[in-house]
Parts: sequence; structure tokens; C-alpha cells
Amino acid sequence: MSGHLRIRWTIVPSTAPQPLINCNRCGGLKPYRCSGRFRVNANGKRIDAWLIYRCVDCDNSWNFGILERCSRRDIEPARLAALESNDPVLAYRHAFDVIALRRQVGRVEEFPDVAVRKEVLEGTRESAAVLELRLGLEMSTSLRLDRLLSGELSISRSRLQALEEKRLLSVDPEGAKALRKPARQGTTVRIDLVGEDDRQAIISAAGG
Ligand SMILES: [Zn+2]
Repeated sequence: MSGHLRIRWTIVPSTAPQPLINCNRCGGLKPYRCSGRFRVNANGKRIDAWLIYRCVDCDNSWNFGILERCSRRDIEPARLAALESNDPVLAYRHAFDVIALRRQVGRVEEFPDVAVRKEVLEGTRESAAVLELRLGLEMSTSLRLDRLLSGELSISRSRLQALEEKRLLSVDPEGAKALRKPARQGTTVRIDLVGEDDRQAIISAAGG
């Protein structure tokens, strides 16, 4: 056995972050869910656009500002059309923009659920000594790397830690406690499986 089995994991967060808003209808701090719809005010030369959120309990609405008093000249017609037609890809992109949301709300709840698409880039399962996982994330997630690996590979987090301590698992780029931090775009995880009894099971789970 020699060589690497290189697999790309494309990770797509499933549930959009929810801002916590002081709901003036039902009272108290409540999570608001993205409706997937925009509100666009494009009457004059100035354009405002918001992504509409709704209280999970009472349906009260809150507007997440996307464009504010923007000059019509500065907006690409395709983008305006996407806003006006509630384009789902554009709504998805804004709904996962946690940084912009936090700037407007302060408190935002994030969800760790993701869908993972697995695709072999190089190597074969029979000859692989080292499993190499390349992570691709278009949107950020709060899901910790060890939880992602444990869930997808069906191995415990304590075993992941043991593999790391024995230097059979490495994370690139390296960082202190990288396993305990959220999974990041461009991360590569390498696991040396030569001496592991369940090598085939791990490789299958990884998508090989
Ligand atoms: Zn409410």
C-alpha cells in the first residue's frame, strides 16, 4: 500500500443563521428566520433593498438591509433583476453572510448542520495508505472540524484526537487546536490509515 487517496468534500451549510431580534409583537428576544424574499424600493434614482426575515413565533417581519440609498447607476441590471425576482441563489448568499448580519443585529444564532458532497480527485481505495480530504466551503459554518470528521467518517472524536497525538492525523494549514475550530475553506486533512483495522470502512465513509 502506498500513495494518497485524495477526496474533495464540498460542504454546504443547510440552515441559514438566525438573527435574534427583540420582537415588538410577541415580546422578548426571538429568532427570526429568513423568508427568502427581498423587498426592493426602486422608485426614484435611489434604490433600497432588504432581505425579509420573520419571527419564528408570530411571523412579524424584520428587514436585513442589503442596499441602502444606492444610486441606480451603481447597480448592475442583472443584480437588480435578481433582487426583484427573489433569486434563491442571491438570497442564500446574503442569508449566510453572518458578518453583515452581526453588523446589523449583534446576536446571531448559527447552525452546524451541513450537507457534504464527496468526490475522489486522485488515487484508488485499494492502494491508499493516506487519506487526504480537501475541504471546500462557499459559506462559512460553525461546525467544528472534529465534529464534521467524526460524523462523516463514523469515528469518535476521541479517536481523532488519539490519531492526531500519534501524528497519524494532520491538518493543513496547521493551527493550535485546529480540530476544535470551525471547518474552513481550503483546509486539508491527512489521515494515515496503514495500521488501522477499519481502514476500508473509513475510506468508504470518506467517499472513496
Ligand atoms: Zn414575534
